[in-house]
Amino acid sequence: MFRCPACGEYMEALTKFHCLSHHGMNRSEFIAKYGRIQYIFHFPSKELEHWLQETTTVRQSLENFSRKLFSK
Ligand SMILES: [Zn+2]
Repeated sequence: MFRCPACGEYMEALTKFHCLSHHGMNRSEFIAKYGRIQYIFHFPSKELEHWLQETTTVRQSLENFSRKLFSK
C-alpha cells in the first residue's frame, strides 16, 4: 500500500494514470518533485474504520443540526 505524497490518497501503486490525472505530470516528473512515494507496510484498517465511524457520527450530527436550523 502506498500513499501519494501530493494528495495523501492511499493506493496499491503509484500509477502513471494517477500522476497524470491528479497532478498533471508524468511519473518521473512526479518523483523528481515529491521524492520517493511513501510505502505503508500495514494499512491502518482499524484506524481507518474508527475514523470512518467518527466521520459518520460527525456527519450525522451536522445533518441533525442543519435539519434543526432549516425546520423553522
Ligand atoms: Zn496524488
